[in-house]
Amino acid sequence: MENIGDHMGKRKKKTRIVIDYSKCGEKGKIDPRDCGKCLQVCDPCVFLRHMTLGVKPKDPYDPQDWRITAVWPSVCTRCLKCVEICPEKAISVSW
Ligand code: SF4
Ligand code: SF4
Repeated sequence: MENIGDHMGKRKKKTRIVIDYSKCGEKGKIDPRDCGKCLQVCDPCVFLRHMTLGVKPKDPYDPQDWRITAVWPSVCTRCLKCVEICPEKAISVSW
């Protein structure tokens, strides 16, 4: 009989998706609301564009107060379309 340890060892490795905020949003020169290409190409909708948590905006149009987060990496199909389309090379996907 297969034990639980064997079963766990065969589980798919988690996908890690990292956004470099020094390139997009916050400290970057790109406003994620103007670009959003990663949102458009990702079929399973892994990404969310949102206001930086905890921020008390002085100006709601300030790009530095917005960011993209990969909130659902578990549904990523590892197609790498987001990595290829990002004009700032701000996204890395690994597993
Ligand atoms: S690799 Fe593909 S599925 Fe995964 S986050 Fe990027 S676009 Fe979405
Ligand atoms: S594609 Fe890249 S630059 Fe454009 S919003 Fe997504 S992370 Fe930012």
